Amino acid sequence: MSEGLERLIGEIKKHGFLKSKPLEEAIRKCPRGLFVPEDRKEDAYLDEPVHIGFGQTVSQPSTVVLMTEALKVEKGQNVLEVGTGSGWQSAILGVLVGEKGKIYTTERLKALIRIAKDNLNRIGAKNIEVIEGDGSLGLKDKAPFDRIIVTAAVRFVPGPLLEQLKIGGFAIAPVGDMVSQEMILIKRVEKNKFERKFLGRFAFVPLLGEYGFSEGSV
Ligand code: SAM
Repeated sequence: MSEGLERLIGEIKKHGFLKSKPLEEAIRKCPRGLFVPEDRKEDAYLDEPVHIGFGQTVSQPSTVVLMTEALKVEKGQNVLEVGTGSGWQSAILGVLVGEKGKIYTTERLKALIRIAKDNLNRIGAKNIEVIEGDGSLGLKDKAPFDRIIVTAAVRFVPGPLLEQLKIGGFAIAPVGDMVSQEMILIKRVEKNKFERKFLGRFAFVPLLGEYGFSEGSV
């Protein structure tokens, strides 16, 4: 397992995605092999999305790294993830914020919540709360957030998420249609002023829900 993990880390570094040492260490502490189903273990350390059941995937490692690097997560921060899936992204964020930080991650599928909780328990994560519900609404009672990461495709960044972002905070989301999206990094500069940076094209599964795609359109 660790041979595959080291090969993957080397590959992502070589391609210029992985730059920061704390993120590299976080990836080592959260081996992706622990977050994919039994029959997909051999694909865990390929730089590819892996099916986790229920029509969902754990994102490609280089994409997870690109999004995480862009967010510049710091120790002690309050972070929201929308789209828990396997729990791998939240596990990495949990290491980066450290024991004084907190990750809230939302998922709409009960079956994935059970799986993600098991996966997170296996790596001993203590600062991550998995919450069932429509993540497009954010989590008003846990806001404001220093960082928000949306790991499913949205047509636009949901308004409630922007409202729940701290001034000076960053949010990242793949924005587009059901086929392809532009990765957008947003900085909340002032209450009503947001700066946007475009980070390339990606293909994510859709975010459903009130501010996401409607179930009928999928
Ligand atoms: N971050 C995940 C990981 O590390 O494995 C991968 C996320 S997967 C690409 C997208 C996830 O978003 C799926 O698990 C899907 O069920 C979830 N999702 C879709 N719509 C949602 C919504 N409205 N609220 C919360 N989660 C949602």
